[in-house]
Amino acid sequence: MSHHHHHHDLPHHPDFASANQAFFDKHAHQADHRPNAPELAASVCNAILEAYSFDKEATLVLDYACGTGIVARSIAPHCKTIIGVDISQGMVDEFNKGVQNHGIPTEKMRAVRVELKGEENELEGIKFDVVICSLAYHHFDDIPAVTRLLAFFLKPVNFPDADIAFRSSDQVIFRVHIKNLETHSDGFPPSAFCAPGSNEVVDLSEPAATLDLLFQYMYPQRQPDLNEIELPLLAELAEAVEKYQVYSAMAICNVFLANGVQDNPLTVLNYAVRHHYHDIADECAPLTVSLPLEEVGAHMYQTYMGSWLKYYGEWQKILELACLEGWRIAHTSPCRISNSPTTCPHWLAARQNVLTKLGARPGALNDLAMIFTTAHGLYPCAIESLRQWEYFIVVKVKDIPKFRTFL
Ligand SMILES: [Zn+2]
Repeated sequence: MSHHHHHHDLPHHPDFASANQAFFDKHAHQADHRPNAPELAASVCNAILEAYSFDKEATLVLDYACGTGIVARSIAPHCKTIIGVDISQGMVDEFNKGVQNHGIPTEKMRAVRVELKGEENELEGIKFDVVICSLAYHHFDDIPAVTRLLAFFLKPVNFPDADIAFRSSDQVIFRVHIKNLETHSDGFPPSAFCAPGSNEVVDLSEPAATLDLLFQYMYPQRQPDLNEIELPLLAELAEAVEKYQVYSAMAICNVFLANGVQDNPLTVLNYAVRHHYHDIADECAPLTVSLPLEEVGAHMYQTYMGSWLKYYGEWQKILELACLEGWRIAHTSPCRISNSPTTCPHWLAARQNVLTKLGARPGALNDLAMIFTTAHGLYPCAIESLRQWEYFIVVKVKDIPKFRTFL
């Protein structure tokens, strides 16, 4: 469906997009009725099928400026999913009507009206194997900008001339070069999986989101911005990087995971102990003591659970000493209220207050400053005793052996 002759009838307008949109909204229903439309669509389709080897189980296609879907319908049998995008609601409606009339499931083929901007959450975050755009490029006023935009929706790692294909746990195919795997990684011996050049697809246990990042580290291109990535995915990437020994990504994953210590100490501890990053393990282990035991039980790698429980036992011992010290320590500073410091109502109340907060919870030892400062404000006469008590505990906590000594 060439719209050439119509297009040039339009009055000159600086904004091609809205002019196109208005025109095609009006004329969408007749677009396929021009006499040569089916032949043209067939020849476009053949050219596309020749240019890329489509896999009907796996290939994801974006059809940009999809029109009524006459080309997309010929591509559909050769791919897993084809999503049409158009700025004209009229075209999108025709497209979806055609899908329905041909009995094609919408999971396989559908169109949406959207003006793509190249942002992460667009089109449900899907990245495509192929982007097609037929007979529409002449409608764009900035062709390089549109091309850059469309490239954003391609999987960053998927090369038609690749010599090996991997399938993620969620069934996404990545085609890469054995040469790159060999150069950047010690953990991908592809010849052990299958012979180069064979059409076999190697299954990996990682999801597509992880592999997508992982493979980017094996090509000479700008590396992914890990600032944008949430810790759970980052942890999975770090795990894969270690598993497949992708050296170019190890240090950066290490740094970014260490930054996540405060928010998710257990995830980071798991990573650190498995891959022998002892400094990171020592840093995050104290924070895991504050977590609910059932959470640690559920998420700590079982291999290290025994080590963790021994470590937790050390904290438990210090907590006992901390509470005992509260009974032992006298009201040492001069008392402004009572003749006998040990009966000073401030001290008695302050001790009760602190003991209640320490409870039987070793994690409270991470909150000493907060617990004691609050008591200072409430019971001024007991400040000196509280300071001594806190100092006693802080010293004991510092003496808890580092986590690595329990491994
Ligand atoms: Zn007092």
